[in-house]
Amino acid sequence: MDLELDCQCDCCDYLTLSKKGDSQLCPVCFWEDDPACSFTKADARSEANHGLTLREARESFCRIGASCDDMLAHVLPPHARTHFRRVSRAE
Ligand SMILES: [Zn+2]
Repeated sequence: MDLELDCQCDCCDYLTLSKKGDSQLCPVCFWEDDPACSFTKADARSEANHGLTLREARESFCRIGASCDDMLAHVLPPHARTHFRRVSRAE
């Protein structure tokens, strides 16, 4: 499957987005891409993500595999994430 997705989700670090800054929803963690809360603004509250900060969402993803508890029912199970590439970043 060639998805041609080469933009990285700020929350889970998977390459799940076709474009940044376009409010795309990440299918892996369900973080909504928000230009106001990019990787370099991890403590800004994201209105698109119900007031979560990116830092909180990243912690949730590490802990439960979703950007927040409410999204846990929607995210891809770990075995389905293999469709996407992941590039880890240093904090
Ligand atoms: Zn994500």
